[in-house]
Amino acid sequence: MPEATLFTKIINGDIPADKLYEDEHCICIKDISPQAPAHVLLIPRKPIPRLVDASPEDHEILGHLLLTAGEIARQLGVEDAFRLLINNGADAGQTVFHLHLHILANKKFTEQGLAL
Ligand code: 5GP
Repeated sequence: MPEATLFTKIINGDIPADKLYEDEHCICIKDISPQAPAHVLLIPRKPIPRLVDASPEDHEILGHLLLTAGEIARQLGVEDAFRLLINNGADAGQTVFHLHLHILANKKFTEQGLAL
């Protein structure tokens, strides 16, 4: 059994995180070290290490992540200007080997909470 990733520990509640959203496929948390006024991470529950490690069976999860990213951006009030980023591999800056999408926006998001 491989060791649980940092994000699996967060998903399981073993490590605390500021959680904004979760459903059966994914969880969205605030980045601990924000690189923009709004910076959240969208993480699949399945611990796919890197994007290139995803397989055709992950089709639904990957589609779900993109649709959810748009919905979260809308709920955060940054839908008109945000960036989605995936670092794939250490040389590209990936530090946590559990697939995740960075949602970054230069507009601070509202703290009203998500009602997805
Ligand atoms: P990567 O560099 O792998 O693309 O992104 C990993 C991200 O995870 C970084 O932006 C980093 O700030 C964030 N991060 C690392 N450890 C923690 C943590 O314990 N909690 C949260 N919320 N974010 C983390």
